[in-house]
Amino acid sequence: MAKKTKYVYFFGGRRAEGTAEMKALLGGKGANLAEMVNIGLPVPPGFTISTEVCTYYYDHNASYPKTLQREVREAMTRVEKQMGAKFGDAANPLLVSVRSGARASMPGMMDTILNLGLNDKTIEGLVRRTNNERFVYDSYRRFVQMYGDVVLGLKPQHKDDIDPFEAIIEQKKKEKDVHYDTDLSAEDLKDLVVRFKAAVKEKTGKDFPDDPWQQLWGAVSAVFGSWMNERAIAYRKMYDIPSWWGTAVNVQTMVFGNMGEDSGTGVAFTRDPATGANIFYGEYLMNAQGEDVVAGIRTPLPISQLAEQDPKLYGQLDKIRRILEKHYRDVMDIEFTMQQGRLYMLQCRVGKRTAFAAIRIAVDMVQEKLITDKEALQRIEPDALNQLLRPIFDLKQKEEAVKSGKLLAKGLNAGPGAATGRVVFNAHDAEQWAKSGEKVILTRIETSPEDIKGMDAAEGILTARGGMTSHAALVARQMGKVCVAGCNELDIDYATHTMHVNGQVVKEGDWVSIDGTTGQVLLGKLNTKPSEVLQVLIDKTLDPTDAPVYQEFAKIMQWSDKYRKLKIRTNADQPDQSANAVAFGAEGIGLTRTEHMFFGEGKIGPMREMILADTVEQRKAALAKLLPLQRADFLGIFEVMNGRPVTIRTIDPPLHEFLPHEEPSQRELANQMGISYEKVKQRVESLHEFNPMLGFRGCRLGVVYPEITEMQSRAIFEAAADVKKRGIPVEPEVMIPLVGHVKELEHQAAIVRKTAEDVMKEQGVKFPYLVGTMIEIPRGAMTADEIARVAEFFSFGTNDLTQTTLGVSRDDAARFLVPYVEKEIYPKDPFEVLDRAGVGAVMKIAVEKGRSARPSIKLGICGEHGGDPSSIEFCHLIGLHYVSCSPFRVPIARLAAARAALLNDKPTATKPARKRGKKASTKLLKKTTKKVSRKR
Ligand code: PEP
Ligand code: MG
Repeated sequence: MAKKTKYVYFFGGRRAEGTAEMKALLGGKGANLAEMVNIGLPVPPGFTISTEVCTYYYDHNASYPKTLQREVREAMTRVEKQMGAKFGDAANPLLVSVRSGARASMPGMMDTILNLGLNDKTIEGLVRRTNNERFVYDSYRRFVQMYGDVVLGLKPQHKDDIDPFEAIIEQKKKEKDVHYDTDLSAEDLKDLVVRFKAAVKEKTGKDFPDDPWQQLWGAVSAVFGSWMNERAIAYRKMYDIPSWWGTAVNVQTMVFGNMGEDSGTGVAFTRDPATGANIFYGEYLMNAQGEDVVAGIRTPLPISQLAEQDPKLYGQLDKIRRILEKHYRDVMDIEFTMQQGRLYMLQCRVGKRTAFAAIRIAVDMVQEKLITDKEALQRIEPDALNQLLRPIFDLKQKEEAVKSGKLLAKGLNAGPGAATGRVVFNAHDAEQWAKSGEKVILTRIETSPEDIKGMDAAEGILTARGGMTSHAALVARQMGKVCVAGCNELDIDYATHTMHVNGQVVKEGDWVSIDGTTGQVLLGKLNTKPSEVLQVLIDKTLDPTDAPVYQEFAKIMQWSDKYRKLKIRTNADQPDQSANAVAFGAEGIGLTRTEHMFFGEGKIGPMREMILADTVEQRKAALAKLLPLQRADFLGIFEVMNGRPVTIRTIDPPLHEFLPHEEPSQRELANQMGISYEKVKQRVESLHEFNPMLGFRGCRLGVVYPEITEMQSRAIFEAAADVKKRGIPVEPEVMIPLVGHVKELEHQAAIVRKTAEDVMKEQGVKFPYLVGTMIEIPRGAMTADEIARVAEFFSFGTNDLTQTTLGVSRDDAARFLVPYVEKEIYPKDPFEVLDRAGVGAVMKIAVEKGRSARPSIKLGICGEHGGDPSSIEFCHLIGLHYVSCSPFRVPIARLAAARAALLNDKPTATKPARKRGKKASTKLLKKTTKKVSRKR
């Protein structure tokens, strides 16, 4: 008989049935609760219902596996034994929490129910046992409220609606003339329960369920149901979490932080998640339950204060902090509760952190010998480096703004960086305004998971309540958004879309600037300045020794360079872009698009003359005017690149892109050229194409007008000769675009090579050069062996290769690719992340065929995918020599290339990736194709 699937995993006492490794089955929360039990930390006992039950639930019309009920009852009995209490028992009731827990953390996206098991009978037992009527009724009213919201559907539907239970509490507080919930007496809370239950009856037509088992199954279903709520779906989309992962459900003995002044609850990080500093970082609230801290209803105290308030508890907590960091070898994010002086751990997970913090923590932990440099690299998402390059405020301007009274308030520095935008007061408006091109600062009393899309659309997030671990702060850090949280001085009125701050009124649409590094909120629009890394590397206005963030960045780059196999080049058309890229670590230029140069100073006129020429002579005359201008462009680039390889591509786009299409500019051109307007108009019309991207472009231009290729080659080689004579090393690589047939390349290469020989003879110098091609249409890839007999290098133009392989126009795709990605037809936009199974497979054929004809062929990529980490990993796997990307992505590519090598290369494989055998790379291709579709 087949072994029965186990669906429920117990944890508690000294041993748990799960471990930290079992995240796929138990979710992150369940797996780590089990692990904490196994390493001897105090965890209230409970059990985890596996993610497989969630999948089953959705596959079987919201029903459960047959054995689940029995397993849950058995696990509950084990919990009861440990606690010496009984679920539903009137004398000594066991109360539980029911929480979601997916494989990847999805903070606040799904539902939670606390204090489950309370009813009119069990409360009496609890009152007797705790001797604390107020606490019991407070727990009871919280339970009815949560259960009503989450399970019975009383949660407000509209963003401006108020929770019906909150309305009742507000009413009660008014009646009693008190300010805080904590000012309500046991009698008041008792009355609240009665009113809450009446509200439930009125809204649902049914009584509030009293049977604890009925409550439990209702809660379990609600948690599984919340996996498919709108905000969870939106969150998953944003973070590439597949819906088939499902969530686990954790049922755990309740411990109470609201049992009086010796009780409390808190959340903490083992290091500062915003800056990465090695300090215990967190917040706590005495006499409160967990949701009070996270929801930001009361502003919590910093954890350092606990050391004074209760040194014994603080000592225990600090010890746990060290145990956890040693055990997990990472920064952990913990939740704890103190019940009448006893400490319990309710959650631990790897702590989310800003890019600044991730880098600092990784570098520090290598220095502390907790992790290796290889592990450090694997802990930093390459795209996170973007945050280090983000702008900061111009300090002088900010100081002046502060002096002139523009400083509105100061909150918590929850998400570093500088953001300026117009104030909007709800997430929906943030989305809409951003869609119409406005920069906005989403300003809320506090954010909630529903706000996720608006938070994503905003430049920055500003909240009036909540601490460093409030929803706004957590999510902003994860998104890499600038955030100022807990800015108490803001008095926000959603109804009138205004806020009052220290005597000033800020209306919707007013500009504000928020500094997520200092917590300042300023009225008006402030200029931003390049980040520390940019000030050191690009502007050269900051000394590296005064730039700690830069120093950490440099360490990561140094380690990346130690492990990566791929070289990193850049796509640059100007000397200044090239210089930036070199400063970021580029080792060459992978693509200079010469056509971009024709829009530069003085060039568009002769270019247009060339295009409109009737005869070869006329064309040559126009080209002669262009020659010195192009030569000067190349000269500047060669000088900056100082011997690094430079790939220059001959003209590529359809010619009509260079012509004026409006009558006034056509008339102006006619005047300049001394020909009639009609002639210009007629020539422009004759160049019109129905499918220009598949039309007269790329090498086709050079084949029909060889004099263009000749002029461009001459400009390249004359510039090379010039710098060479001045002692600057130079290595041009001339690249022919859009080759599909070897004869096209033969034709163009012959011109390039002849020109090179001519120029070297004329100038009396010799310099190395290569002639190669782009592989960007499928015929070129399929006949790559023929092409490689002529080409000394291939550079994959994956923008066009994606367009031509998928048969999807790169200029018109957005309209249907967005819904395609939403429907998961393609896991990601294939113009952003390489489609490994399709375009990748074509590349692989070209690599194999190219190498078979010319084993030494140089292979690279210069499509936009050259700056995308997943695509870079693929390039590593198929053994390319380099990737080329825009200058600001060079650091990201360096790190991504190192991570690709560390993740995929066996430690024993000392040979470079390109020398791997055919079979090995086929296997790798399959492996990576599968990985992407599984992961994304
Ligand atoms: C490409 O097609 O990938 C490429 C780099 O060329 P372009 O984007 O200029 O067509
Ligand atoms: Mg192209």
